[in-house]
Amino acid sequence: MSDCIFCKIASGEIPSDFVYEDENVAAFRDLNPQAPVHILVIPKKHYASSAAVDDSSVWSSLMNSAVKIARDFGLEKNGYRMVINTGEQGGQSVPHLHLHLLAGRNLGWPPG
Ligand code: AMP
Repeated sequence: MSDCIFCKIASGEIPSDFVYEDENVAAFRDLNPQAPVHILVIPKKHYASSAAVDDSSVWSSLMNSAVKIARDFGLEKNGYRMVINTGEQGGQSVPHLHLHLLAGRNLGWPPG
């Protein structure tokens, strides 16, 4: 999608603080971090939200990448949270599927 900011980040058109990349997935630090570790994991292919995914391999690549990043960052001991906001009431503000990986502080529950 030519006007999608996360597509532009994935392609390198917009610079970002990448922490991981493979054939299918890119991961970069959130611009407005909500925790000491706040990484966004996205499929390189554009899906407007989780609801638009029509290929189950997207989920395995996204989740496996997020767990690998958490392991590489040493987050397993103290724990971490993975969140996918979907749609308006789900709090999604960028219409390209992304998984938030949050860690480094006690995270409240339930979410606001
Ligand atoms: P959501 O509200 O679930 O759609 O999350 C979108 C996230 O993208 C927010 O946490 C924003 O801070 C983050 N964000 C927006 N633009 C950028 C950008 N250019 N680089 C990194 N993170 C971004």
